[in-house]
Amino acid sequence: MNATPERLVTGKRSEEDAAELALRPQTLDDFIGQKQVRENLKIFIAAAKGRGEALDHVLLHGPPGLGKTTMAQIVAREMGVGFRATSGPVIQKAGDLAAQLTNLQPHDVLFIDEIHRLNPAIEEVLYPAMEDFQLDLMIGEGPAARSVRIELPPFTLVGATTRSGLMTRPLRERFGIPLRMVFYTPAELETIVQRAARVLKMTLAPDGSAEIAKRSRGTPRVANRLLRRVRDFAAVAGDAAVNAQVADAALTRLEVDGRGLDAMDRRYLACIAENYGGGPVGAETLAAALAEQRDVIEDVIEPYLMQLGLLMRTPRGRLLSEGGYRHLGLAMPKGQKQQLDLLSAGDPAEEA
Ligand code: ADP
Repeated sequence: MNATPERLVTGKRSEEDAAELALRPQTLDDFIGQKQVRENLKIFIAAAKGRGEALDHVLLHGPPGLGKTTMAQIVAREMGVGFRATSGPVIQKAGDLAAQLTNLQPHDVLFIDEIHRLNPAIEEVLYPAMEDFQLDLMIGEGPAARSVRIELPPFTLVGATTRSGLMTRPLRERFGIPLRMVFYTPAELETIVQRAARVLKMTLAPDGSAEIAKRSRGTPRVANRLLRRVRDFAAVAGDAAVNAQVADAALTRLEVDGRGLDAMDRRYLACIAENYGGGPVGAETLAAALAEQRDVIEDVIEPYLMQLGLLMRTPRGRLLSEGGYRHLGLAMPKGQKQQLDLLSAGDPAEEA
């Protein structure tokens, strides 16, 4: 699935992230950032607990590594209920889903990561489960097939998706609490990095955490990963404390630039500038030109470039902004500037 496991700044999970388990915040108050999501959840959790009911189904939407899984676990802990996790692509048959659902205790949280990748036939089974806590299963095949109905305990489904645009509308509409996770500010990431440094028992100067935060793509998973790599460089170089200078030297050697872009991001920007005259160019074409999976481009690379204002997504394709050219050390061609004004004025940017 992950075509670029060696990539340092991807928000996608990798093997070594097991080390991050100790870094996961445990309560809503511990959780840094995502103020709006936290405040909403606090109210809905208090209300559900007050009524003695299961919390309504929650959909967490946002790029990888922003804390969706962590937030789902916190929801279960704050509700005082059990937590079970699975993911869209893992659920192959209706029976797999039934096994998960029938094992739940009343009010438990079932977390389905990458819910946009659920097989459509399984989605159909999920609808009555979410709405009426009933499971309709077909047993047997052909003329002997019959349907059985199983009553489920009331439960909370927490779905996570990097792209809610890919979810079917009926599924999306069955979530009473849709929440959008946003990129973290450098100040929030600094706090996260300092907390992680304490857990890892390393000495991190304030300017060191600022440097790492600035280059972490607004993503806690990336921040924690960069911190560990910087720690390795510092240890080998014999630096007792990590300050901005040590962090900068390490991150530069790792090819993570001043704004957190890595070689792949720069290759992406350069490809649009040099091969497609700055765009518009479609995602499929870019994926082929860069030999990268389309969902990596759309989920991991583009959201952050758009956040920085280096890239624009329009219905006609991707366009490099003036800032995008500047980041590459290039000037934007005149004609391209007019085209950009024209395209970005009329067409609202495509969502997700
Ligand atoms: P997602 O499910 O969105 O891909 P995760 O919940 O797995 O992201 O979070 C990735 C990592 O980032 C976690 O291991 C956790 O250590 C860290 N993390 C996420 N959000 C926060 C936060 N608000 N504060 C501190 N660490 C966080």
